[in-house]
Amino acid sequence: MRKLVLATRNAHKVGELRAILGAAGLEVDLVGADAFPEVPDVAETGVTFEENALLKAHALAQATGLPAVADDSGLCVDVLGGAPGIFSARWAGKHGDDRANLELLLAQLSDIAAPHRAAHFACAAALALPNGEERVVMGRLRGTLRFEPVGSFGFGYDPILQPDGYDITCAELTPDQKNAISHRGEAFRALAPVLRDLLG
Ligand code: IMP
Repeated sequence: MRKLVLATRNAHKVGELRAILGAAGLEVDLVGADAFPEVPDVAETGVTFEENALLKAHALAQATGLPAVADDSGLCVDVLGGAPGIFSARWAGKHGDDRANLELLLAQLSDIAAPHRAAHFACAAALALPNGEERVVMGRLRGTLRFEPVGSFGFGYDPILQPDGYDITCAELTPDQKNAISHRGEAFRALAPVLRDLLG
């Protein structure tokens, strides 16, 4: 079975991709980057989701000698010209302070009426081979931003994004419901045929 490494130390993301590849009939032995503790994290110096996902995938493929998959994601708000975008995790200054990021965004948009609050989660999923070959695909989850956070599932901006076609937020969807429609799910599903092509 071909071995494939995913650029995350989050066991949940490994499980999610493993399930998607399994459903697509792809037999790969997927391991997380925590199986390679000696490999340092790469600086995300790209200016697009695609560039950052490719940077992470190439770094891991070079360090491990294995085909590597990486993703990069964020929230893009129409009226902000696509921001926070690649800055989603550190919008309020400190990396990964989900509550502060969400509150700053809500404050910035407080005067913006419901019809102008369109936004989407975006995810780039990249595959890099040790020989330098690369592919990258995108997934999106479109919706509207609420005025107040609602719901306790999920993370990040989930409590304020109401997906199109729903009357609840992403943080009110169960993890399975969210995975079925999420930007990451869509990107990983789009990657399955690419993996089949490149890995044989
Ligand atoms: P990362 O690509 O997993 O590092 O995500 C970057 C940031 O984008 C996270 O810290 C969140 O703020 C935001 N984000 C990405 N995906 C989601 C999601 O599915 N729900 C909520 N926030 C997300």
